[in-house]
Amino acid sequence: MKILLLEHPRSVTLERCNDIANTPLSSCLLTGYAAGMLKSKGHDVEIVESYLDKLSYEEIGKAVSAAKPDILGVHMVYHWKEDHALFDFLRRTKSERLSPAITAYGFYPTVAFESVLKQCRAIDSIIIGEPEMPFAGLASAVSPGRPAPRIPGLAVRDESGGISCLKQRPAENLDEFPFPVRTEALYRLPEVNLLGSRGCYGKCTFCYINSLYGPGPSWRGRGPENIIEEIDGVMADRGARDFYFTDPNFFGPGQRGQERALRIASLLKPRNVRFGIEGRVNDIHDEAIGALVEAGLRHILIGLESGRDESLKRMNKMTTVAQNERALGILRKHGVEPNVGFIMFEPDSSPADIRVNLEFLKRNDLLRNLPVTANVLYHHQIILEGTQAYHHLRKEGRIDTPSSSYEGTAYFKNPAVATLADMMRQVTNILFSCMEGIWSGRVIEPPGSRERYARANRLLVELFENSLSALEKGERLSREEVTSLVQGAGREIAGILKALPA
Ligand code: SF4
Repeated sequence: MKILLLEHPRSVTLERCNDIANTPLSSCLLTGYAAGMLKSKGHDVEIVESYLDKLSYEEIGKAVSAAKPDILGVHMVYHWKEDHALFDFLRRTKSERLSPAITAYGFYPTVAFESVLKQCRAIDSIIIGEPEMPFAGLASAVSPGRPAPRIPGLAVRDESGGISCLKQRPAENLDEFPFPVRTEALYRLPEVNLLGSRGCYGKCTFCYINSLYGPGPSWRGRGPENIIEEIDGVMADRGARDFYFTDPNFFGPGQRGQERALRIASLLKPRNVRFGIEGRVNDIHDEAIGALVEAGLRHILIGLESGRDESLKRMNKMTTVAQNERALGILRKHGVEPNVGFIMFEPDSSPADIRVNLEFLKRNDLLRNLPVTANVLYHHQIILEGTQAYHHLRKEGRIDTPSSSYEGTAYFKNPAVATLADMMRQVTNILFSCMEGIWSGRVIEPPGSRERYARANRLLVELFENSLSALEKGERLSREEVTSLVQGAGREIAGILKALPA
């Protein structure tokens, strides 16, 4: 059977130019894993990377028309809007009979399958959860002109016009899955992405990692030997030496998680590779980090999220500020400056929470580097369907779903926090658009940039702190005053950074 898998185009809006959380990084291998499984069953699989290869719908249409696939699979990613361009393309594909069966998969359609199937009748079915087994089942059962089959992990329209869905249990042994297929576009990224584990044992209210997987163990790790076999294959085929574990939680729980990390480190060490990982602060321990650094660990993302224990509790982070500071200390001791996840503004934040966050960032040297400063001083909690926060806030009537029921805009409890959050988003958006060329790697940083970044950094911190102090004193800023402050700061930032290529 001929199967074409599509990574559809994604657009970046000015308003959301720096928000990344519309799909977890780990989803970048969903298509590759589906392709690996389908190929292992003897199907002829082609992947169209229109996002990374910047293809238009016209070009994608030509690829579909040339392939005439028996199934068109679409990895559907939410990019801050209802995707009319994609839905129109799928309708045309169906009406021109270029593919008799269209299925979608990914985090977004898993969580929002009912609304996606209602919005776009050209989509015949949606894979709920990890795609390997349902896609293989679909490929063996689908038959042109017949309704989509009812198999575990597939949501379909039933005869009465309703939508039915049979749940699947996530796979217990990830080592049984074929390795993912990687396209040339994926190999062009600076690091080869890997997935060493799936899910997370955490239950943060804002996170929707586990909404993909359904019932079963929340964290599943591949065996270290199985991971190394994949890495060896990539090194032999492509000569790659730089890898990134896209696992939301590299370590896994408890002592067993640490022992597994030590085993991975011992296997990686003789291979002379560099790699990055992501993890929870409570899993950052001296022995495992030391071993991983010796084995080539060069960067890590850790979710600090807040500098206040009350906020961490509200987010159900199951970590403490002391653990945040301990993790920073251990990583720095081993020479790794972490990237940090930080939610400055959550819907229930008070000015006191914001102040404690600011002091935490200052105390821990997290306001010295422009990209870090810009991120930690503006990040709002994003409210996506499939998270505990979405359901809780919706019940309380505190979210708007203007463009899609999938994404909510939360009302801040405290008006002063709402003002500061709005102002920092606008100002940092100006900064992100000034820096887009350099931070996306499209253009080379000109000499003398560092000094300018330092000035822009100081400006951002001062703006934040002065505005917070004013709001703490009870001053209220009108919409016009906020606009004027944003415009003034934006002009200064643009002035400082103006000679940098965009
Ligand atoms: S620790 Fe990270 S991956 Fe795990 S639930 Fe929390 S935010 Fe999600």
